[in-house]
Amino acid sequence: MIKRLNLVHGPTPVVTSRALNRLVGCELYLKRDDQTGGAEAGNKIRKLEYLLSEAVALGSNVVITCGGVQSNHARATALVARQLGMRAVLVLRSESKNDQVLTGNLLLSHLSGAEIRFISRAEYANRTTLLQTIAEELRANGETPYVIPEGGSNGLGALGYVDCIEEVVKQAELGLLPRTVDTVVMACGSGGTAAGVALGIARFGFAKRADAFAVCDDKGYFETQIAKIVGEATLRRPDLGSPATLTIHDAFKGPKYGEMDALQLAFLREVAATTGFVFDPVYTGKALYGFAQLEEKPNTALFIHTGGLPGLLAQAAIFAPAVEPNVDPADEPPDLTQAASAFAPTGDAALTGV
Ligand SMILES: *Cc1c(COP(=O)(O)O)cnc(C)c1O
Repeated sequence: MIKRLNLVHGPTPVVTSRALNRLVGCELYLKRDDQTGGAEAGNKIRKLEYLLSEAVALGSNVVITCGGVQSNHARATALVARQLGMRAVLVLRSESKNDQVLTGNLLLSHLSGAEIRFISRAEYANRTTLLQTIAEELRANGETPYVIPEGGSNGLGALGYVDCIEEVVKQAELGLLPRTVDTVVMACGSGGTAAGVALGIARFGFAKRADAFAVCDDKGYFETQIAKIVGEATLRRPDLGSPATLTIHDAFKGPKYGEMDALQLAFLREVAATTGFVFDPVYTGKALYGFAQLEEKPNTALFIHTGGLPGLLAQAAIFAPAVEPNVDPADEPPDLTQAASAFAPTGDAALTGV
């Protein structure tokens, strides 16, 4: 038995919504892995259950990982490491000072007391070597570092998503969703979630295929990366067997990583406004949009909502104009009489008790 910590507030809910089905065009079940925790929520803590368990077992006092400047993974790692009495060194890719504003994930990582080191895009290309170099540095100082790869995506971390599918299968046995679905859908940023899902759905016979929507890189990159992660995971758990068929879609990445085009933004807004479910602009919003665009839609699907809310909050400026049309509050003071009458039951409404 491979050891793991108990970090996920599970089982996370599986919900369905007619309004969402209408927008997406199939019978969709939403796995709320955006609710795996509080400030540390999202898909990463399923992977961290295994990774940080190993870190603890090895007597580590410091965890080193990397990601984009608004990395959900770095934030979750920093918070949970601190909860476990370890410190974190986060190596974050930053384009300029402008994206180093303390907001969203970066704010939470900062609050956790993590040591944050910004690096350029060019330096980030050598991230794997860089993390090892930092580990050597810390070892030379008498510390015991534990290195977690980008996104927590290695064979050990991916086991967290085999567990997620096992959890879903138990929920299906309780009648919360069908025993099988046509496909399991998710965003793909470093491949660990997709690898675990493909292994899990094959192992538990929950779906014949999975569809992963790339938010960076491309199909070829992820096929190689995921095959590697699957290989590592099955070495650790030989009972897993072969993964299910996994299709990587790379046509819905938008203008670039972290940025949506106008149609994607409009979709994200419409989904939130008509269903009350909030998706993020970096991962889940692009995956749901991409899935909704597919020409051949399955009948039933499980969509894994992997989180990302802090990333949305960090992009408030992009959404502000649409939410609040350019009205300067100084020009138009609020109409208090109207606001008051909205709360006072008067006229017909009061008489009929509506
Ligand atoms: C990291 C992340 C993903 C992608 O998961 P990978 O396992 O890295 O492919 C999807 N959604 C959110 C919100 C994430 O933070």
